[in-house]
Amino acid sequence: MTVNGHTNGAAERPKTGIKVIVVGAGFGGLGAAIECHRQGHDVEIYEAFPELKTLGDIISFGPNAGRIFYRWSNGEVVRRMRPLSIDLRKYGFNIHKYDTGEIVINQKTPQYAEDAPNFNGHRGELHEVVFNYARDDLKIPIHLGHKIQTYFEDDKQSGIVLEDGRRVSSTLERKIAADVVIASDGVRSKARKSVLGYEDKPKSSGYAVWRAWFPNKDMLADPETAHFCNNGDTFNGWIGPDMHFLFSTIKNGSDCCWVLTHPDEHDIDESWSFPGKLSEVKQALKEWDPMCTRIISKTPEDMLVDWKLVYRDPLPTWVSPSGRILLLGDSAHPFLPTSAQGATQALEDGVVIAVCLRRGGKENVPTSVRAHEKIRYDRVRQTQKTGESTRDMWHKTNWDEVKKNPEIIQFPRQEWIFDFDAEKNAEEIYDNVVKEILAA
Ligand SMILES: Cc1cc2nc3c(=O)[nH]c(=O)nc-3n(C[C@H](O)[C@H](O)[C@H](O)COP(=O)(O)OP(=O)(O)OC[C@H]3O[C@@H](n4cnc5c(N)ncnc54)[C@H](O)[C@@H]3O)c2cc1C
Repeated sequence: MTVNGHTNGAAERPKTGIKVIVVGAGFGGLGAAIECHRQGHDVEIYEAFPELKTLGDIISFGPNAGRIFYRWSNGEVVRRMRPLSIDLRKYGFNIHKYDTGEIVINQKTPQYAEDAPNFNGHRGELHEVVFNYARDDLKIPIHLGHKIQTYFEDDKQSGIVLEDGRRVSSTLERKIAADVVIASDGVRSKARKSVLGYEDKPKSSGYAVWRAWFPNKDMLADPETAHFCNNGDTFNGWIGPDMHFLFSTIKNGSDCCWVLTHPDEHDIDESWSFPGKLSEVKQALKEWDPMCTRIISKTPEDMLVDWKLVYRDPLPTWVSPSGRILLLGDSAHPFLPTSAQGATQALEDGVVIAVCLRRGGKENVPTSVRAHEKIRYDRVRQTQKTGESTRDMWHKTNWDEVKKNPEIIQFPRQEWIFDFDAEKNAEEIYDNVVKEILAA
C-alpha cells in the first residue's frame, strides 16, 4: 500500500484472513491495529469515546517506540510527530538539588538514530497524529462511541457485545465475532474480568502527580522565568525527599509543562484526572527552591490536574482461557511515569501480537496469542520495575554521594530497553517459543 507516496512496508504482506477486533483507541489499541494492518490482518477498532479530543499532557516515547513509528509509511508518521515534540539536543536535562536549586548535573541528550527517534510531547497532539494515520491513511475502521462491557469466546472465535442504547450504531450487529479480540481498554479494563475470571483490584502506588500544561504567556512576562521560553526547548528537574518536580518547555518554548510527583495515600478512583489545587502544590513545595513555586504560580488553575498513580501486581496472565482474548497495554500492565515506558511498551505489545498472529496463521490463533504473552511477559515486567527504581533512586538521594559522582542521579537510559527491536526479536524467536508452548 502507498500512503502519500510512502510505502508502509509490511502492509504489502499477503492477507492472512485473520479477523482482529481491537477494543480501545489509545496508543496501545491504535498501535496494535496499525501493526495488524501491516502484517496483513483484517482489523477494526471499537472505542468508548464518542469523538477524538486532545486530552492529557506530557507523554514519553523511547527510541524503542520511535523504531516502531518509523516503520509506519517509511518515516512519514515520525515526520508528523517531530514538530510536536520537545527538542533537547542543545539544552539537555538540568538536574537541580531541591532546596538550594543548584544544578548538580546537565544530562546530555543522546543523539538517537534517525530510524529510532524518541518523542516527548503532548499526549493528545501525538495521539491525534496516530489516530488520523490509522483512520485516514490506512483506512482502518474506528467505531467511536462503543463502550464494550462484555466479551465472549469459544474454541473457534471470540468477540464483543455492544451495549444496548443510543450509542450503538444501527448498522452494526450487537454481537461481533472475530478470530481474536485485543483488549487495549486501559487501566480500568472491563476485559480483565473475562480474561482472569475475577475482578482485579487495583492499588494505590502511594504517590500522585500534580501536572499541568499551559501557554508561555505569563512565563515570558516574568524576567526570572522568561529564559525558559525564549531560547527554544528546556527541561529541568528538581529532586528531593520523596518528591520530584519536572518542568519542560516545548514547541520552541511556546508550551510549558510540569509534573510534581508526591506521596499520596488517598483512596484511588482509577481516573487519571481530577482538578488540582494550586494552594496544595505550593504548600508541598514550600521548603523547595523558590523557582519551583515561581513556575507553579504561572499555571492557570483550571489546567492543573491531580492524577492518582495506580498500580497493580502483575497479572498472572494476559490471555483468556481459550486463547482468543488478549489484554494489551495498560489493561495488562500499567506503568509508573518514572519508567517513561508505559506507552512504548503498549506499542511493543502491538508489534509482537501482530507478528505472532501472522506467523501462526488463521488456524493457530490461540497458540500465537500465548506465544505473544511468553515473548512479552518478562521484558514488560523488568521494564515496569524501572519505574519504581528510578523513583526510589531520586526520592532517597544521598547528596554526599551525588557530590562525589553527580552522574548517579541522571535519568537511567538502559540500552536493553532502548536498543530493542520488538519486531525483529519476535520474528527471530517465534518458532522456538511455539515449540516450548507445544512441548509444555
Ligand atoms: C484521556 C487519557 C489521557 C491520558 N493522559 C496521559 C498523559 O498526559 N501522560 C501519560 O503519560 N499518560 C497519559 N495517559 C495514559 C497513556 O496514554 C497510557 O498509559 C499509554 O499510552 C498506554 O495506552 P493504552 O492504549 O494501553 O491505554 P489508554 O491510553 O488508557 O487507552 C485506553 C482506551 O480504551 C478506551 N476504553 C476504555 N474502556 C473501554 C470500553 N469498555 N470500551 C471501549 N473502549 C474503552 C479508552 O477510552 C481509551 O481510549 C492518558 C490516557 C487517557 C485515556
